[in-house]
Amino acid sequence: MPEIGVLALQGDVREHVRMLQEAGAESRPVRGPAELDAVDALVVPGGESTTMWKLADTFELLEPLRMRIKDGMPAYGSCAGMIMLADRIEDGVAGQQTFGGIDMVVRRNAFGRQVDSFEADLDFAGAPVHAVFIRAPWVESIGPGVDVLGRAEPGDRIVAVRQGPLLATSFHPELTGDTRVHRYFVDMVREL
Ligand code: GLN
Repeated sequence: MPEIGVLALQGDVREHVRMLQEAGAESRPVRGPAELDAVDALVVPGGESTTMWKLADTFELLEPLRMRIKDGMPAYGSCAGMIMLADRIEDGVAGQQTFGGIDMVVRRNAFGRQVDSFEADLDFAGAPVHAVFIRAPWVESIGPGVDVLGRAEPGDRIVAVRQGPLLATSFHPELTGDTRVHRYFVDMVREL
């Protein structure tokens, strides 16, 4: 059974751990480099990307995480986690850094300016999901190696992407009862 960590610096960690377990994986929080070494894959939860970046730096996880991602560790980021997996961001605070890995530009708080939070039924990788968006980013542009797995109104914006072992969604599947996105990620980890 794959062992999937949930980055536990900040954000809705417990909900992801529970969803991963329901989806058939072992899961536990990751707070430092030793715990990161012990997992096969990682979920980066929602929360606040500026805080997560600063805490990752403080807890000496920024570089180890970048290295694991470069080495091909599967990772899934939701909302702030999507921002953290983006190679480039728009509307970050001055100097804001990410872990990177997905060749895309993500705009922070993009939906937030129009509708602070909303729910929508959308198509994720060919199956329906109920999606919860909270001050959510959207994907502004993608590189050639990135697949679009989902879009949402308003604006038919890209809200779910995959590049090889990396998955990201603008929305929070951990806040619904639907384990589809977590099962998709657990299957990815099993296949890789
Ligand atoms: N707006 C937040 C950020 O910039 C993300 C919000 C969320 O994760 N729900 O990090």
